[in-house]
Amino acid sequence: MKLWSQYFIPTLKESPADAEIASHKLLVRAGLVRKLGGGLYTYMPLGLRVMQKITQICREEIERGGGIELEMPHLHPVENWQQGPRWAAAREIMFRADSAGDGKRGPREPEYVLGPTHEEVITPLVKQEISSYRDLPKNFFQIATKFRNEIRPRFGLMRAREFVMMDAYSFDATDDGAIKSYLAMKAAYEAFFRRIGAHAIAVEADTGVMGGSFSHEFMVPAEIGDDDVIYNEESGYAANREKATSALVPADLADAAPTGAVEEFATPGAVTIAALEAAPYGVPANQQFKTLVYMGDGKPFLVVLRGCDELEEAKLGSLGFTLFRPATAEEIEPVMGAKPGSLGPVKGSIKDAAALVGVFADHAIRLIGNGTTGANKDGFHLRNVNVARDLAVTKFGDFRRVRPGEPDPKSGQPLKVRRGIEVGHIFKLGTKYSEKFGAVYTDDQKQSHLMVMGCYGIGISRTMQAVIEQSHDADGIVWPWNVAPFHVLICVLDPQLPEMMELAKKIALAAEGAGADVIIDDRAERPGVKFKDADLIGIPLRLTIGSKGLKDGIVELKWRAQKDVAKVPLAEIEAKVAAAVAEAKAKAASAA
Ligand code: ATP
Ligand code: MG
Repeated sequence: MKLWSQYFIPTLKESPADAEIASHKLLVRAGLVRKLGGGLYTYMPLGLRVMQKITQICREEIERGGGIELEMPHLHPVENWQQGPRWAAAREIMFRADSAGDGKRGPREPEYVLGPTHEEVITPLVKQEISSYRDLPKNFFQIATKFRNEIRPRFGLMRAREFVMMDAYSFDATDDGAIKSYLAMKAAYEAFFRRIGAHAIAVEADTGVMGGSFSHEFMVPAEIGDDDVIYNEESGYAANREKATSALVPADLADAAPTGAVEEFATPGAVTIAALEAAPYGVPANQQFKTLVYMGDGKPFLVVLRGCDELEEAKLGSLGFTLFRPATAEEIEPVMGAKPGSLGPVKGSIKDAAALVGVFADHAIRLIGNGTTGANKDGFHLRNVNVARDLAVTKFGDFRRVRPGEPDPKSGQPLKVRRGIEVGHIFKLGTKYSEKFGAVYTDDQKQSHLMVMGCYGIGISRTMQAVIEQSHDADGIVWPWNVAPFHVLICVLDPQLPEMMELAKKIALAAEGAGADVIIDDRAERPGVKFKDADLIGIPLRLTIGSKGLKDGIVELKWRAQKDVAKVPLAEIEAKVAAAVAEAKAKAASAA
């Protein structure tokens, strides 16, 4: 048991100015964290206890899912990253570290980077240590600090520059094996989130450039989340908006027949979808082709959408470029022959079509059939543009952002949207990293094969805050039992009276005997202050010992999550507390 007066819980009445959301305010007000700088936090004693509990439950469940714990360095030689497949894409978010410098590297190449994740370290390690199918599968994990130079750290621990993650990496001999490892981790995640009292749902996620792989994100539904989840609860469909699809375009849609010859018409000053919609043109947005120019690994390509649709940029990841970005006006004009606002994908109208590495069209433009688009000539557009006849499409794909109300791909029912916090991620990687690092094994025929990998992450510190976001009220945090920093708080209203402290300790021992962590509030503070602090730090079970109660022969018992206060006779208090603890423990365990 701990005595509050000898422990350290610096609670605050006011929230810090930079805290915009409830969980961030409560983290600071309840004395769980203190800020060092942007995205950098100290875990204060109470916060550290919660982190340790979440970590331990995570460790137990990942081990149950087949994980083997180790810990890798956080300082990585830059060569590991240069050899890996994503140095170009990831270098932006990595903190760089240099020793005195050997003069051989230019100022732009660091000697070390701080690890944002560890594929580039674990894969060469496994290559070095494992060479036979007999040693596979293996799944290694660690629970440790990660570093990412987030441009805009915010919401406290939600998006920090230094944070704690559970990261795991599975290595299998076969694709089927990799799927098994993936599903075992999915089950481990589900058990973990249930045990810590977080309501998290698995949603399909974007896999970026890695074809043939799949991925789920675990989302805690919350208004303040950074991600949109597109879902339909009846069919069970749930996907991150970056990945979500809909059944808007029927699979058996036939190509529209042309309605006439392509015709150029003057549109002076009309350079937006809206301007063409308006008089005198009156072309509805869903009858216009929108043409976007992007640069993929330095070369231009086109994306064609309906005028009424938005590009979902993450979906361009499926095109296989390492880096892509919107082209600048200076890059566009020499290729297209016109400025943005008059661009179009019609064959023969593009000034330097040979410069394009592709024309990628969203399926939904087939719903237009015959429409209007820019003529690649400033101030002119083309009408009667037929998709099949007039466009040189390299590949049709799903590039548009799905909107709520569109038909669910599973059931055809309307899709809904809801915000969520990503607390975890599982990813079937395939052989992308094993290829780069030569992680191969020999089978029983002495044949050599690439190992099939999976990678997995849980944001431990973000999860702690997500639990608070999900479990609080106007007065403070309401900790789920299994992650509460203490389970039982004994408020002693007159700690100067030795008999009161004696009783408190007796009750504390009974609670501890039943498996609870106990703290006694023995501070010389007014009752009002003690109760406010108790609600703020959110300990599940509170007992109050005061002079008036003792005169009446009772101790008050109150659950943080409930309103009513029970008066327990002194003769029964130890047994009552032990029973209450046992019951709460059992309830938390059965939820898991
Ligand atoms: P996000 O999309 O939120 O930027 P991510 O997709 O980059 O996260 P992963 O690389 O999948 O994250 O990392 C695994 C987990 O680590 C995430 O699910 C999240 O819980 C956590 N995490 C990632 N970035 C941060 C951060 N800056 N601060 C706190 N936790 C983070
Ligand atoms: Mg992610």
